[in-house]
Amino acid sequence: MNKDCNKDHSAIQHIMKELPISQKGLERHKCAACAYEIGYEHGKKRQKILDIDDVLKGLDYSQAQQQRHKSAHAGYMKGYYDGLKDSYK
Ligand SMILES: [Zn+2]
Repeated sequence: MNKDCNKDHSAIQHIMKELPISQKGLERHKCAACAYEIGYEHGKKRQKILDIDDVLKGLDYSQAQQQRHKSAHAGYMKGYYDGLKDSYK
């Protein structure tokens, strides 16, 4: 079951601020910051098979801080990109 996110996402508020707004389908009220962190891990591992719907379904809910109403899909992809970049360091 999805619960409310109670993680501390204060370190990535500047990233959350830049994400587009979306409340469509599976993204509705899901935590875009958790999505970013999952995407980051997948990118860092250079995971090549991605199931976005599965990620979105598994996310906890959030109405907090800058991630409020932001696109969890975009959060995931931004995290993936940042993780991928860091994997080359
Ligand atoms: Zn979260």
